[in-house]
Amino acid sequence: MNEDYLPLAYLNAREYCPRRFYLEYVLGEMSDNEHIILGRHIHRNINEEGTLQEGEMLIHQQQWVWSDRLKVAGIIDAVEECDGQLVPVEYKKGKMAQHLNDHFQLCAAALCIEERTGRSLPYGEIFYHTNRRRQTVAFTPQLRQMTEQAIVLAQLASQTIMPAPIDNTKKCLSCSLKEICLPFEVKQLRGSITPETND
Ligand code: SF4
Repeated sequence: MNEDYLPLAYLNAREYCPRRFYLEYVLGEMSDNEHIILGRHIHRNINEEGTLQEGEMLIHQQQWVWSDRLKVAGIIDAVEECDGQLVPVEYKKGKMAQHLNDHFQLCAAALCIEERTGRSLPYGEIFYHTNRRRQTVAFTPQLRQMTEQAIVLAQLASQTIMPAPIDNTKKCLSCSLKEICLPFEVKQLRGSITPETND
């Protein structure tokens, strides 16, 4: 496997905010906040590689997966195996909703597992810690196509200039990189600079 493969977690970051993806993946910036620390805390019980058995089900935790076709790689929190069916599972700290970035990350992991095992995965699941609910995500042809497009866009984005801050203030206020990104200051400065003075 090539070290240049896009990490699955960064695919999620890019869908959250392209500028965050660039700061983390291209510039190597990192910073913790309460959301990051809580996410780490939630993963404390599932962060060891190994296989557990619950009844008829085998749970393969912290599985390293990759795709040579798509040039992505990463760790999936768990792969449940029952009656010959593999189901990838991700654990997230937030509330259950239609988080497309989470769906892309899960679907990309499924594409990796399919390539590695030659088996077909019809769906995966995301466990949302805040309301302790599992969401089933069907790997439809549309989601597969969108995921592959998101991978290509993330790979291309790493070769361009840093994107501008996003307009979603709520996301910025929750973002661990806001002190590095300075989204409000950058937007204010951009608003005050005319095209002539910006040359
Ligand atoms: S502060 Fe906002 S614009 Fe900056 S990286 Fe975070 S989400 Fe993106």
